[in-house]
Amino acid sequence: MIRKFLHRVFGTKPSTSISASRPPAGVHIISRKQHGITREHINPCALKVTSGLQEAGYSAFVVGGAARDLLLGLDPKDFDIATNATPEQVRALFRRSRIIGRRFRLVHVMCGAETVEVSTFRGDTLTSENDGATANVHADEHGRLLRDNVFGSQEEDAKRRDFTVNALFFDPVHEEIWDYLNGYEDIKAKRLRIIGDPLRRYREDPVRMLRAVRLAAKLDMQIDADTAAPIGDLAPLLQNVPPSRLFDEMLKLLLSGHALACVIDLRTRGLHHGLLPMLDVILEQPLGERFITLALKNTDERVQQEKPVSPGFLFAALLWHEVLAVWNNRQGAGEKTILALHQAMDDVLAVQNKKLAIPHRYDAIMKEIWAMQPRFTGRSGRKPFRLLEHPRFRAAYDFMLLRCESGEIDMELGKWWEAFQRVGSGEREAMLLKDEMQKKRRRNRSRSKSASSDAVSDHKAADMVK
Ligand code: ATP
Ligand code: MG
Repeated sequence: MIRKFLHRVFGTKPSTSISASRPPAGVHIISRKQHGITREHINPCALKVTSGLQEAGYSAFVVGGAARDLLLGLDPKDFDIATNATPEQVRALFRRSRIIGRRFRLVHVMCGAETVEVSTFRGDTLTSENDGATANVHADEHGRLLRDNVFGSQEEDAKRRDFTVNALFFDPVHEEIWDYLNGYEDIKAKRLRIIGDPLRRYREDPVRMLRAVRLAAKLDMQIDADTAAPIGDLAPLLQNVPPSRLFDEMLKLLLSGHALACVIDLRTRGLHHGLLPMLDVILEQPLGERFITLALKNTDERVQQEKPVSPGFLFAALLWHEVLAVWNNRQGAGEKTILALHQAMDDVLAVQNKKLAIPHRYDAIMKEIWAMQPRFTGRSGRKPFRLLEHPRFRAAYDFMLLRCESGEIDMELGKWWEAFQRVGSGEREAMLLKDEMQKKRRRNRSRSKSASSDAVSDHKAADMVK
């Protein structure tokens, strides 16, 4: 009944029931003895859901990034589960669950504060009965997949994934890995290999090219030669991807803990050109390059140390040299310093919001960080104390340090502010006094210099009169 219904609704053969104890032909099963992953490695919520599904007679596995990361000895970010149960069947089994998504329906199952995502095995709409190369009604004129919402078998579910290392299924109940595509071997060889024909798979979804670069850096893997070969030629296809999806993928890349390596690799593969205005901005300003390299390195270190990273800070850094250029131009045209900076910020954001699809929610933080920069030079009276109390002081200070390190401004300013934060209030007053005295001395020196040069010119004038 259900099979017939699925067939009618989704226009595909419903998944053949796979019992965990009876593996289908074509799957390579790797035992716990070989792979060494036990159910203790799985988060309790994912274990509860997979066991629950299996007890109810379905097959259920931990899939994708989690299975891959466990085999690599990394900490999985989240545990996704794949099953042959339909979303309704999953929903019926777990009280605290809900069906989400309209296009492809998934189930979120909650246990305590944890949530795991359960998806029904999906087929690949392009893998037709013939040869897989036929034009598909669910793809645009470039071959980009517009729909991938048909249920399928477990093997089909493996094949529609992007890389072989992302297509492994871990059954925590039996502690087995199910591998249809030699992903296990690829993991051991640290080889990132796309599933199927690379050209076709990138055309279906050009974002896979960015994922290849990000995952290779994150997993310390080599991109297989056939997988890497078409990337340069197909780079322009990224222009057809909706900007919000590109933005999401870029954000993942920038916050991966390997942003600098990724950005360098994107550049080497010609993936940055024209296709993604943000990367053009990042990489094509020789002056800003050092600043951006430092900013990315800094972000990578923070991510690796599991410290929080603010995307707003990162975007502020990525666009700083744009702002700086416009700011300088406006000042050159006679505008007052602060007004010119604010105008420059608005100019840059107006262009970048359109081009880079940076969501507006990041505007406020970027503006605050930029607008606070000139305030670091105001080292007199109560100004430094007020700046110190600003809720965004830390971000603006870190930003100013990057400017010092990149050579844009004098290191002395960074050192002064580092000391000003470190010392007690009495010493802070002393620092300000010392600064005030130095300023006075400089003023006097320049006054006496101009007085003596006035005297020299008076002499000259007198000589000329004679
Ligand atoms: P990360 O650890 O960075 O989250 P991930 O591989 O888990 O990496 P996700 O975006 O969470 O990445 O995707 C989960 C799984 O979905 C992947 O492992 C892969 O199997 C599949 N997948 C994701 N994006 C694609 C894509 N563009 N094409 C095909 N399969 C994909
Ligand atoms: Mg993931």
